[in-house]
Amino acid sequence: MISQPGAMIKLKADTVIDLSEYTVMPGLIDCHTHVLLQGDITAEDYDVQVLKESVPYRTIRAVNSCNIALQNGFTTIRDLGTEGAGYADVDLKKAINRGVIPGPRMFVSTLAINTTGHYPLSESTYAWELKIPKGLAEITGADEGRRVVREQIAHGADWIKIYADRGYIKLADGSYRSIPNFTSEEIMAIGDETIRSRRKLAAHAVTRDGILAAINAGATSIEHGFGMDDECIQLMIQKNVYWCPTIYVNDYVAEGRAKAGSPINKYFSETEPALFKKATAAGVKIAYGTDIGGYDWHEAQTKDFEFMVQYGYAPLQAIQTATINAAALLGQPLLGEIKTGNYADIIAIKGDPTKDVKLLGNVQWVMKDGLVYKTVK
Ligand SMILES: [Zn+2]
Repeated sequence: MISQPGAMIKLKADTVIDLSEYTVMPGLIDCHTHVLLQGDITAEDYDVQVLKESVPYRTIRAVNSCNIALQNGFTTIRDLGTEGAGYADVDLKKAINRGVIPGPRMFVSTLAINTTGHYPLSESTYAWELKIPKGLAEITGADEGRRVVREQIAHGADWIKIYADRGYIKLADGSYRSIPNFTSEEIMAIGDETIRSRRKLAAHAVTRDGILAAINAGATSIEHGFGMDDECIQLMIQKNVYWCPTIYVNDYVAEGRAKAGSPINKYFSETEPALFKKATAAGVKIAYGTDIGGYDWHEAQTKDFEFMVQYGYAPLQAIQTATINAAALLGQPLLGEIKTGNYADIIAIKGDPTKDVKLLGNVQWVMKDGLVYKTVK
């Protein structure tokens, strides 16, 4: 008998579970989550979490986020930054692995890295005498970049996450530009230190100004990438870099932010269908990433599947972004497929999601590592 908190059924070897009326498939993988965030549509939502909630309180909330991910059928997540909650993601991963709490397999990136003064909380919106907490680790200079990478790995980072650009604009010719956050010395030092330590680099990068620099520094995945151009697409293919397009989160905030006077996300929403078609037709590989936590954990985690189908992917192609593609991005050959020797991460769904990906929003049975965490009603 194996028992684990949160696991509903204690299984013996050779237990038969009848799922003949369901579609059985590999557990889903979300390559872009923030379990320590609870939705921050506005800058104020973000500041409130960082200023008014202690890290222990945010971690208690994150226990709930981890369970939601697992109940949604995501048996693995790559969590891309604690947003001011220190190394609490390492604790959550540890607690899950030791069976203290239920949750998905976690690959964590701890604090994430940006350059000094380019990330919330913004100093200019608070009394300048205050020492304002920050949503990540700030560096200036290549040596500081190396030091912070080393610190994060020492604390348990599986991935290093950087914010490669900011200040996105759309030009009159329809192209997008941004401000690169790092000097080339800084980003190259971070990439080098990451790769020589056998870790991988994930880059928040939205236009060519961030994307090209991040790929040249060795990034394995481009997060968001809403404003990429043809040169970015070619370089991604050449260097086998994955795109996590985080479609729903952008759509979710677009209208509200446009009404508040910032239309850039709306522009991204308008141009993303054509960009997705062009990039995927050219051969860019997609890994499923939602940015959930950036939006509320009670919202759907499976909307990106629907958008991908709307943008021209076959349902099976969309599903594979969260199974074999995501496992390949993570470098985890024992995930993403049901086969002998792999982890027993399996989910079951009523109906056929290869015909209708909306069904993925209603996962009815979840097994992680051979233990059942959600049972058929
Ligand atoms: Zn994110």
